Amino acid sequence: MTFQLLQPTSLAEACSMLAAAPDETVPIAGGTDLLSEIRDGTAWPSTLIALDSITDASLVGITETRDGGLRIGALTTIADIAAHEGIRSRYAALAQAAGGLATPQVRNLGTLGGNLNQRPRCWYYRHPLTVCLKRGGDRCYAVPGVGKYLCVTGGDRCFIVHPSDTATALTALGASVTVASTSGERTIPIEDYFIGPDVDLMRENVLRPGELLTAATLPPPAAGLRSVYLKARERESGDFALVSVAAVLDIADSTIAAASVVLGGVAPTPYRATGTEDYLAGRAGTAVVPADAGAAAITNPRPLPDNAYKIPMASNLTARAVANLLTAA
Ligand SMILES: Cc1cc2nc3c(=O)[nH]c(=O)nc-3n(C[C@H](O)[C@H](O)[C@H](O)COP(=O)(O)OP(=O)(O)OC[C@H]3O[C@@H](n4cnc5c(N)ncnc54)[C@H](O)[C@@H]3O)c2cc1C
Repeated sequence: MTFQLLQPTSLAEACSMLAAAPDETVPIAGGTDLLSEIRDGTAWPSTLIALDSITDASLVGITETRDGGLRIGALTTIADIAAHEGIRSRYAALAQAAGGLATPQVRNLGTLGGNLNQRPRCWYYRHPLTVCLKRGGDRCYAVPGVGKYLCVTGGDRCFIVHPSDTATALTALGASVTVASTSGERTIPIEDYFIGPDVDLMRENVLRPGELLTAATLPPPAAGLRSVYLKARERESGDFALVSVAAVLDIADSTIAAASVVLGGVAPTPYRATGTEDYLAGRAGTAVVPADAGAAAITNPRPLPDNAYKIPMASNLTARAVANLLTAA
């Protein structure tokens, strides 16, 4: 297929190019996801806007915010996030999520903006000859077909899981994202950025036509904050999560002052494990039974015929994450 490649030199120019034809124009960053979609025939944009030609420094790199948090530009590579000393020491779950995703080659090219906005990995969506609701088809063949990798909660006609590891970690860490267009900027808590098929079958986030994601911002960490990211997958490299968990505990005087626990691989959006959070919050570390924390991870799961294995996997991974953080304390 042929497409036109535009190379803006500023964010404002990129936004104008997007605004000119928002339905046929898509941004391309590292290209590790979009180019395979084009090659496989599941995306057919007429125009690509190359974000890597933009010279605005604010789109690349990791900087301290005034309140002691961190801002990560959308064009920052996954490898740079994984290696950043401030992220490794203060937001370990994000460094671990970034460092363990995909392969070194993908991490070197792939960007944060691309990772958060990548399209689903469902086989039925990714196959050009298969009818799929997300590509305008009239039915989903995944449910009577192979649902092993699909969601166990939050499905509604479509049963994708959100593929991004950084999305799960950033949600647990309470990050926000900034998006820009010719109308200006808006900042959205990342928890509100992702949407499931019950809200919109065709999209996985609230990015409007003509908007670009420009940054993610992490709040300053509490003094007793510790975090971890664990991921279960079939192969140790280059594989998406069957289930993952990002657990963030704020521990003060041996008591859990606050808990944020988010699962990947189980729902169309990063899934907040409120049952686990309620179990942990306010509890003395010595009174926590990790298996009980894990058992509460998914509320009312609705597995497909061949993915119920994800429920004990989520419980066990959550229990391990909690035990890991309490031992580290
Ligand atoms: C073999 C393999 C294994 C992988 N394993 C994992 C894994 O385990 N975990 C995981 O999380 N990911 C995994 N991935 C996905 C990979 O991380 C993404 O392909 C990569 O992060 C996308 O970044 P990119 O810059 O290349 O995005 P691109 O391919 O350039 O873009 C991806 C999508 O995001 C949009 N986009 C890009 N930047 C922006 C922006 N700033 N604003 C708005 N939209 C934007 C594009 O239009 C496109 O739709 C894997 C990929 C491969 C090929």
